[in-house]
Amino acid sequence: MLRVGIGYDSHRLMEGRTLIIGAVEIPFEKGLAGHSDGDVLIHAIIDSLLGATGKEDIGVHFPDTDQTWKDAASLELLRYILRMLRSEGWDILNVDCVLIAERPKLRPFISQMVEKLQGVGLKRINIKAKTNEGMGFIGRGEGIAAIAVSLISRQADI
Ligand code: MG
Repeated sequence: MLRVGIGYDSHRLMEGRTLIIGAVEIPFEKGLAGHSDGDVLIHAIIDSLLGATGKEDIGVHFPDTDQTWKDAASLELLRYILRMLRSEGWDILNVDCVLIAERPKLRPFISQMVEKLQGVGLKRINIKAKTNEGMGFIGRGEGIAAIAVSLISRQADI
């Protein structure tokens, strides 16, 4: 049985925060706002995996009000979700992602992001970096967005 899921996330860029995308620290004058490290890419990936398994979304599993995950690295949230899915017999076939940011240029960091994500078990992961051609909130440099699609499989529908 195959299942597909989509995830989308966006975060505001603000001063005084470290920019972390795909678990990689990226040198920039601003970082992404958020309850956790604001890792927009990992949040989109988590939502795509939860979507594929019909488990609602990241906010249900890691609510803002839960102090357990306050300031947690998003990579740890992903690790937790992957463990949960594996325990239910799911295999992740592949994950494809799009990052949309005007600045900084993210392409030079993609191979490091891939390495980090493969490190927690996302073997077939692809990440693309786009700008928004100067349009809208992303184009004005107010924030960064990410989209992810996951394809997963399991032997039988349990
Ligand atoms: Mg988020």
